[in-house]
Amino acid sequence: MTARKPDAPTAKERLAIERAKMPEQDAAERSANFGEVNLGLSADAAIREAQRCLRCKKRPCVAGCPVAVDIPEFVTAVAEGDFPAAARILKRTNALPAVCGRVCPQETQCEAECVRGLKGAPVAVGYLERFVADWAMAHPDQVAAEPPAAPTGRKVCVVGAGPGGLTAAGELARLGHDVTVFEALHDAGGVLRYGIPEFRLPKVILDREVAELAKLGVAIECNVIVGKTLTLEAIRREFDATFIANGAGLPVFLGCEGENLNGVYSANEFLTRVNLMGAYLDEPARTPVIRGRRVVVVGGGNTAMDAVRTARRIGAERAMIYYRRTEAEMPARAEEIKHAKEEGVAFHLLEAPTAILGTPDGWVRAIRMRKMELGAPDDSGRRRPVPIPDSEHEVACDVVVVAVGTGANPLLTASAPELKLNKWGNIETDESGRTSLPDVFAGGDIVRGGATVILAMGDGKRAAAAIDEYLRTRDADK
Ligand code: FAD
Ligand code: SF4
Repeated sequence: MTARKPDAPTAKERLAIERAKMPEQDAAERSANFGEVNLGLSADAAIREAQRCLRCKKRPCVAGCPVAVDIPEFVTAVAEGDFPAAARILKRTNALPAVCGRVCPQETQCEAECVRGLKGAPVAVGYLERFVADWAMAHPDQVAAEPPAAPTGRKVCVVGAGPGGLTAAGELARLGHDVTVFEALHDAGGVLRYGIPEFRLPKVILDREVAELAKLGVAIECNVIVGKTLTLEAIRREFDATFIANGAGLPVFLGCEGENLNGVYSANEFLTRVNLMGAYLDEPARTPVIRGRRVVVVGGGNTAMDAVRTARRIGAERAMIYYRRTEAEMPARAEEIKHAKEEGVAFHLLEAPTAILGTPDGWVRAIRMRKMELGAPDDSGRRRPVPIPDSEHEVACDVVVVAVGTGANPLLTASAPELKLNKWGNIETDESGRTSLPDVFAGGDIVRGGATVILAMGDGKRAAAAIDEYLRTRDADK
């Protein structure tokens, strides 16, 4: 018989523990403030949740994680109450664990692969990741950061300070390279700062994780638009290698009549005004946003949910989602849909806009919708929405937010014709992030199109390893 710690549960006891519930801010209260919705597990609840893990030898949960976090190992450390060890294990593979613990779609990644999910609920890996990352932030003296390798004398440039760029920068700095990040906006974080709202990811959490990277010696230069302020050509002359992670920030519009009326926003603009420019703080904001009473958000992804929940918080009495398919096809995380409903957001499914209608002086007064039904599956595998004849009707509103996707950011690529792009304007790379230029690598949304935080981070990690190999091979050949 193997020895077990006196307070460790037996296998039978482990199986009997129910999955932890995330404590949340009350729905009626939170729909009028920007405080975080999920409040985090207590230490006791985290230990109990971690005890549900079966420590599977084949580690299927790790295979489900794009950055291959050592999940059974860090969860075991939590189960034993050894939080410093858990934090060290987590940070070994994940540069932004407090961010990932809050925004990763675990339900389709590590938790989807968890053996406990076969009969009941999977281990709440995301809740545990968040718990450990927050604990480490509160106890910085107990989790010593590993020092970077000796300086290599090689200079690497990273374009874009979103999750892809920040992850690559951290990995490259750990390997001893001299890293400079150029960021177009006045603050680092990419979508984590300008897109995802405070109530899902507090800025203070992001600031702390960015500060950890700065401690490794990464220099972040904001207000530099590569393609305008600096060219890629000039960067290539100054740096030994470059990683491009400038995202997919170009809004897609509906292309219907009335889209230029006052009161119509792309979700990007709406969320940037509120999150990055602070328009949710007390008026008057330097970059204000129209606080509509009846707000229609068109779309069904995370961006649409963030926009509609934001609209509700800045005063919308009626905050409405209009989506052309059913809830089953919505790309948004299940938790976001649930939270939005609890906060009073009205969901109108199988409806698509045909025109936005204005007042004589150019302001939105309504949106015209057409009812849809689902037909045969399209290229995405989802059933195609088909218009129902004579089903058009008007929905009164004063603000419309369009959240139907984004395209590749063209600022950099338009000024660098030497980079090979695909037909959608995304940079073409191989699996490790190599582009058509030997010293230039790319990853994240500029390669994949709009994807997820953790996929961008995985790209950043893989490209950092490829850049390191490129520099070493090049130096050896000299
Ligand atoms: P980005 O995060 O877009 O960062 C790119 C950075 O490059 C930006 O800071 C930009 O300012 C900068 N940049 C652009 N052009 C230049 C230039 N020419 N020069 C210098 N800098 C430049 N994913 C999840 O996993 N979970 C979620 O809950 C989730 N919610 C989301 C909510 C919203 C509102 C949005 C828009 C996306 C969401 N996503 C979510 C998707 C996720 O945020 C992205 O997939 C991820 O941020 C991509 O990372 P990235 O580093 O490739 O690019
Ligand atoms: Fe634990 Fe689930 Fe991973 Fe098995 S699959 S090690 S139970 S988290």
